[in-house]
Amino acid sequence: MMNVEEYLDSLKQLKWKIYLFGEMVDNPVDHPIIRPSINSVAKSYELAADPQYEDLMTAQSNLTGNKINRFTHLHQSTNDLVKKVKMLRLMGQKTAACFQRCVGFDAFNAVDSVTFEMDRELGTTYHQRFQNYLREVQGKDLVVDGAMTDPKGDRSKRPSQQADPDLFLRIVERRTDGIVVRGAKAHQTGAVASHEILAMPTIALGEEDRDYAVCFALPSDTEGIFYIYGRQSCDTRKLEGGDIDVGNCRYGGQEALVIFEDVFVPEERIFMCGEHQYAGALVERFAGYHRQSYGGCKVGVGDVLIGAAAQVAEYNGAERASHIRDKIIEMVHLNETLYSCGIACSCQGAATASGTYLIDLLLANVCKQNVTRFPYEIARLAEDIAGGLMVTMPSEKDFRHPKLGPYIDKYLKGVENVPTEYRMRMMRLIENITLGTAAVGYRTESMHGAGSPQAQRIMISRQANLDYKKKLARIIASIEKE
Ligand code: SF4
Ligand code: FE
Repeated sequence: MMNVEEYLDSLKQLKWKIYLFGEMVDNPVDHPIIRPSINSVAKSYELAADPQYEDLMTAQSNLTGNKINRFTHLHQSTNDLVKKVKMLRLMGQKTAACFQRCVGFDAFNAVDSVTFEMDRELGTTYHQRFQNYLREVQGKDLVVDGAMTDPKGDRSKRPSQQADPDLFLRIVERRTDGIVVRGAKAHQTGAVASHEILAMPTIALGEEDRDYAVCFALPSDTEGIFYIYGRQSCDTRKLEGGDIDVGNCRYGGQEALVIFEDVFVPEERIFMCGEHQYAGALVERFAGYHRQSYGGCKVGVGDVLIGAAAQVAEYNGAERASHIRDKIIEMVHLNETLYSCGIACSCQGAATASGTYLIDLLLANVCKQNVTRFPYEIARLAEDIAGGLMVTMPSEKDFRHPKLGPYIDKYLKGVENVPTEYRMRMMRLIENITLGTAAVGYRTESMHGAGSPQAQRIMISRQANLDYKKKLARIIASIEKE
């Protein structure tokens, strides 16, 4: 496995093209806006090397028997699924941000079982190819961006009906040794922290859309791929040089718009090429795994936010007020409810035909549906407890100013024995998670990441087995016999 330094060095070797604020970024690893998000991914290497987290952060590969980072593992049991959720909660606690490595992890597990079923039914050889690829990923301990979301254009139209056919990533040329693809993947979490990109279709597809049924992996600096880095609320505070106003100066998340400008994919890196009838299963399984993920990562970030709210209540001298205590209890209740669903869908998982374990899809979708709501309520309560100063406080530069600083120190003091700076730092952390750069991961991504709320409701209705429930009612109402 790589250590943190090796991971950072390996990213520096990549010759990728990344744009931010209209300019090409020469050294993304050391860029002040990008670096905190890379630090979050690096945490997955740091914790894997720490003996106290070995059981959660590492696993034994079923492909090679070697010890690997769990983020590259194929789940071999429900215990593995549970450990994944616990690992993501731990990572959320340590970074208070989106740590990005889960998208590739979820993609591996989805692609593994779907390619197995494709090969069994169609006689293709994608599964072996994919497992060869994954062996390489595990052996080199790589980060892979699992890339699903296409731009999608007019939502009322299928991919091939779009005015611009590139609005879904597609095959534009088939050659004897591979294919050429064109299109884009949007909102790509961790793209600029990944060695590889593993692209998948974004929706179930029909025969007319077979050129869109494509799954492949490429090094992230492949010729023809480039990245336009997504901006976040308050991101330029990272350019100011201080460490109070950013709220979380070490860690962050990132998303990018990834463009594929006629990119060649060699045959050995293709895992689906026109088999449109399997696109739906791949989307459903990837989304299911990622909806499980949120029952871990958001809970870990929630732990930090609850801690910050409880801490700032102490700094404000309000911690003994009964309504404050009750609000903290409510936050914990909501957060643990999210976790409960993440654990439950893992415990109720089952083996797929390839042997890789899949979560219970109904419970994973319930988990994510809760995530579209509860973090908002937790954030609302944290803002309530913190007080308005969280958004009206002067800047760190004013606080450090020889004339202004003493006034800020005097007038923004809470309880006597706590330095004003601590109170400012805790307020800025809450601001960061609820309104700042980390709010991408904690709020809007809670809504739309791994599919918007309606996508879960469709899955919930599909899995709900209402006919069975109606039968139960008919039997109890003595309309029907058992
Ligand atoms: Fe991982 Fe959560 Fe970020 Fe998704 S949102 S990549 S599950 S940390
Ligand atoms: Fe996400």
